[in-house]
Amino acid sequence: MTTTFDALSLFSGGLDSILATRTVMDQGLKVLGIHFVTPFFGKPHLIPFWQDHYGVEVQAVDISPQYVDMIVDGPPNAFGKQLNPCVDCKVLMLTEAKKLLGAYSAKILISGEVVGQRPMSQRPDALNLIRKSADVSDVLLRPLCARKLEITPVEEAGLVDRSRLLDLYGRNRKPQLDLARNKYGFTEIPTPAGGCVLAEIEAAARFWYLLRASEAVGVRPSPDDFTLAQTGRQLWTTKDAADLWLCIGRNREDNDKLAFQAKDTDLLFKLVDFPGPTALARPMSGAPWSTEAVRDAAALVASYAPRAVKSGEEVAVAVTTGPTTTTVHVLPQRTSSLGFCEPNRKGFRQWKAARLPG
Ligand code: SF4
Repeated sequence: MTTTFDALSLFSGGLDSILATRTVMDQGLKVLGIHFVTPFFGKPHLIPFWQDHYGVEVQAVDISPQYVDMIVDGPPNAFGKQLNPCVDCKVLMLTEAKKLLGAYSAKILISGEVVGQRPMSQRPDALNLIRKSADVSDVLLRPLCARKLEITPVEEAGLVDRSRLLDLYGRNRKPQLDLARNKYGFTEIPTPAGGCVLAEIEAAARFWYLLRASEAVGVRPSPDDFTLAQTGRQLWTTKDAADLWLCIGRNREDNDKLAFQAKDTDLLFKLVDFPGPTALARPMSGAPWSTEAVRDAAALVASYAPRAVKSGEEVAVAVTTGPTTTTVHVLPQRTSSLGFCEPNRKGFRQWKAARLPG
């Protein structure tokens, strides 16, 4: 791989990031796509496809710790409709990308934003705020809407030809689709952005429960915790303690992921004599679960094993923590005595309102 590039591009894999990158490459400049990865977005396994189909060289960069810190501390410019901190997300990505410029001898930072396209992060004032907060005024180029914006230092310096940049504006996606199909001949047209679970209703509720429980027990959730919050059926209860968090696999893929994610302090549940889900309980505070909580969780896990339920009898559930496995015998029970339930959004808006900046 070449180690010297003229420009680095924020490359989500969404259509706008592809077109922004290609627009600058069309001027004969060498561009490296930087694909940021966090627990909430990032598809580094697609890098070979992107290189093949869109002709863009791409490098994955994991920014999970910084990104999770921003979510946990509360984004300075507030969450969007769900838990998407779009303005601060862009600020963080540009800040991190700017740090990489020197390593590649690059002088330009490309972002695929289109002024007026999105209500929160692509209003003209938001674009200015992002540019200033990330301190990238000297290097930033937004090729898709450059001719709708003031001339930038990289254009003034002659590093790119402004007349060959675009003047897209607003929410109409037709110009991007025309470019993709007719100018570049792409047969696979991705969505505008790269896919981010923070903007999804169901995922936001899952993350919110994790954030809320972490606050209650005074710990900071880790990137791994946010990955776990996306795995399987999520169940929480605050009845016994604030940190009873149980994740039950819904299929083989979930089961494998849960087994893979288990840490030494987690509890892994598995039925001994019947096929059934794998489940993982993570004590957020580090305090061991009470016997009652373990039995309640085991009964719940068993209730998702049809043959165990059909037996009508107590069944054995192995509970493993680190090197130690114990077995509890429970009647499969879907109704939890400790009130385990799946995340809902009751109180979500108030919780977010209490975290508004200023
Ligand atoms: S949708 Fe997600 S990835 Fe995109 S800007 Fe917003 S927070 Fe960032």
